[in-house]
Amino acid sequence: MTRLIFLGPPGAGKGTQAQTLADDLNIPHISTGDILRQALKEQTPLGVKAQSYMDRGELVPDQLVQDMVEERLQQSDTNSGWILDGFPRTVKQAVFLDELLQKLNQDGGKVVNLDVPDEIVVGRLLGRGRKDDTEEVIRRRLEVYRSETAPLIDYYRDRQQLLMINGNQSLEEVTTVLKQAIA
Ligand code: AMP
Repeated sequence: MTRLIFLGPPGAGKGTQAQTLADDLNIPHISTGDILRQALKEQTPLGVKAQSYMDRGELVPDQLVQDMVEERLQQSDTNSGWILDGFPRTVKQAVFLDELLQKLNQDGGKVVNLDVPDEIVVGRLLGRGRKDDTEEVIRRRLEVYRSETAPLIDYYRDRQQLLMINGNQSLEEVTTVLKQAIA
């Protein structure tokens, strides 16, 4: 049973690594960013509410994302495990997740932190060309990461759930190290 949470700054390669591992282990890759982008595309009520935050590189309010994750983690395909990518992003979300998993009788699993230096991350994001990847928005997303999300590294280290992975190597190398770390 694999339950993994992926942490790391935007551009660290979380999405790619999470997807590769999820395919390999045949478990769902749950990316809150992907779910939100899909909702935005379909202009669902959730997407409409989330749009202005996403366009500015701000976090969508905790409650919206928490409801989304609560619903997703109750679907039957999560019985064999899951990889969460992009959630939690705040300490409040992490506390919520701990409580939710307790309620669902699931243990918290391991937390992978993909460690990549700032200058590398900015270069990767600029090269990615996603709609929300303008330089100003990228700068804001990094600020938000530092103030809101980076504290989760200590949060999970204190709970002895943290695995630090050097994300500043080739995609294949990261995958190899990652598989060894969670084995
Ligand atoms: P990502 O694809 O993970 O970089 O997420 C893209 C955008 O979706 C972020 O910049 C946020 O606006 C929003 N988002 C994704 N996950 C969360 C979350 N856990 N909490 C708040 N906002 C989120």
